[in-house]
Amino acid sequence: MSGKECFEILDKVFSPKNKENLDDIKGYTIKYGNIVNDREIIDEVLVSYFKAPKSYTTEDMCEINSHGGNIVMKKILELCLKNGATLAEPGEFTKRAFLNGRIDLTQAESVIDVINAKSDKEAKTAINQLEGALSKKISEIKKEIMDVMINIEVAIDYPEYDVEDATNQQILEMLNSVEEKLVKLSKSFDEGKILKEGIKTAIIGKPNAGKSSLLNAVLKEERAIVTEYEGTTRDTIEEFITIEGVPLKLIDTAGIRDAKDEVEKIGIKKSREIANTADLVIAIFDSSKELDREDIEILELIKNKKSIIILNKCDLEGKIDEKNIKLNESSEYIIKISALKNIGIDLLYEKISELFNLNQINIDNDVLITNIRQKDFINKAIENVKKAKETIGNKMTTDIVAIFVKDILEDLGSITGEFVTEDIINEIFSKFCLGK
Ligand code: GDP
Repeated sequence: MSGKECFEILDKVFSPKNKENLDDIKGYTIKYGNIVNDREIIDEVLVSYFKAPKSYTTEDMCEINSHGGNIVMKKILELCLKNGATLAEPGEFTKRAFLNGRIDLTQAESVIDVINAKSDKEAKTAINQLEGALSKKISEIKKEIMDVMINIEVAIDYPEYDVEDATNQQILEMLNSVEEKLVKLSKSFDEGKILKEGIKTAIIGKPNAGKSSLLNAVLKEERAIVTEYEGTTRDTIEEFITIEGVPLKLIDTAGIRDAKDEVEKIGIKKSREIANTADLVIAIFDSSKELDREDIEILELIKNKKSIIILNKCDLEGKIDEKNIKLNESSEYIIKISALKNIGIDLLYEKISELFNLNQINIDNDVLITNIRQKDFINKAIENVKKAKETIGNKMTTDIVAIFVKDILEDLGSITGEFVTEDIINEIFSKFCLGK
């Protein structure tokens, strides 16, 4: 519970072993006792006390730790509600921390990212952001913009000094530096996206090429994370493996597994659909057979995609040459493996890592943008930097430059949450789960 009355409500439901005056209980204290309804003991619990402003929300807070289990937890919750508490909205605790100024919006957003992280790197990036790495970067850029503003004010206030040309040159240089930093941040979104959503990977190939054998080999080797979204069918099961800490999201694995008879097996048309939605296509061929028309069609459809060609069944006598022109025209990554005998799977990982520069995604030093909202505002800021530069180039008066520079400040403020509407705040926190 969080808020002014939380200790009052707690007092009605919690009977501590050693009763103390609330004023004598220090923050960061845990007390032992029972949750009671009239005289009935609901559970034996530990209660943590946090006193304002030293709490997650900066308000008075307490946390009841019961033995757990649905019935007991529900009873305790109901008891608190009966005694005056109200149920928290999704993300309400974090929202309060934001509204009370303890964290900014980028930090609040990173809380969901920490919770939903699917890989080590993603979790690390989120923690980085929670610690304020992005906020720090933004405020550095904001400081530079403030310096630009000061130069502009001088030019506006003292026109008689006729320093405009020199000042403009200086402003231009400062804007260039800001633009460079913003562009770098905006670009980092692609890396952030890879960390967050994983590389959407499709495995395609003719029936019997070895798709499901490859899938099994890969899933066996890695500790696969299988997520199943509530209320959906098997079709939407997503399987993740991680390579260099980056999640690979395998598309349509259910389709590959379920296709038992020839008719059901994934055809060219379906392969094209799958390949189109993927970031990476792994095209698998049975190397013990010559390439046929259908194989050529598959090679055609991966031509302009990030792809890896697998010559499978390398344990058998080969009928396809690695140097085959048709293969080399379609992808520069061609590897020989045996899915059945588990040969060459590590080669596949190496190539994927190479293709996406996974070992270069360095989350320790660099700040990554991981959500589209932040990226949109960075891009808006870049647009306004460009406009400000154009205005100077066109020899317009300095007060017009000032308008764009102020816009840049506002764009950056929207990222950290100084200038955001209530709707946006509500939308951000609606993505949280209850109790966070
Ligand atoms: P899919 O239709 O593309 O999913 O192909 P499967 O994975 O079901 O494989 C088709 C057949 O090829 C099965 O009998 C597999 O055991 C066999 N197979 C798959 N990979 C290999 C391999 O590397 N070597 C050999 N010798 N057989 C393989």
